Amino acid sequence: MTSAIVECPHCHYRFNYEFIPAASFYSIRLGTLRIFKCPRCKDLHKFNITHFGKDPSLPTHGDNDETGIGVKVWALLLGPLLALIIIPYIIQFVFRISFAFAFIVPVTLALIWIAVFTVYIYRKASRKIGDNSNWGY
Ligand SMILES: [Zn+2]
Repeated sequence: MTSAIVECPHCHYRFNYEFIPAASFYSIRLGTLRIFKCPRCKDLHKFNITHFGKDPSLPTHGDNDETGIGVKVWALLLGPLLALIIIPYIIQFVFRISFAFAFIVPVTLALIWIAVFTVYIYRKASRKIGDNSNWGY
C-alpha cells in the first residue's frame, strides 16, 4: 500500500490517500492523475498523485467504496465490452458474414465509446475548479 497527500481541487480538503500503485477498481488513473470521489464533497474530481508520503495530522482515506467512482460509472464504461462479446455472435448469424468482419464494427464502437466516456469523466472532474457559482447546492 502506497500513500500520497492529496488535495481536492474543489473543496481543498487535504487527506492521505492510500492506494495500490498498479491498478484500481475504484478510480480512473491517467498518468499521475487519478479521478475518484472526494470524501468530503462527494463528487468526482481529479487528484494529483505526486506528493507521496503520509501526514499524520491529516485524515486517511483509502481507494475503496468511499472514494470509488461508483458502479454506475463502471457499468457505463465497461458495458460496451459486454456488447462487444455478444454483438459479433449475433451479427455473424444474422448476416452470415465471417466472425472476423463482424468483430470489427463492435470493437471499433466500444473503443470509441470508452475513449469518449473517459474524456467525459475527465472533463466532468475538471469543471468548476475555482468556480463555485454553478455548484448547484
Ligand atoms: Zn472535495
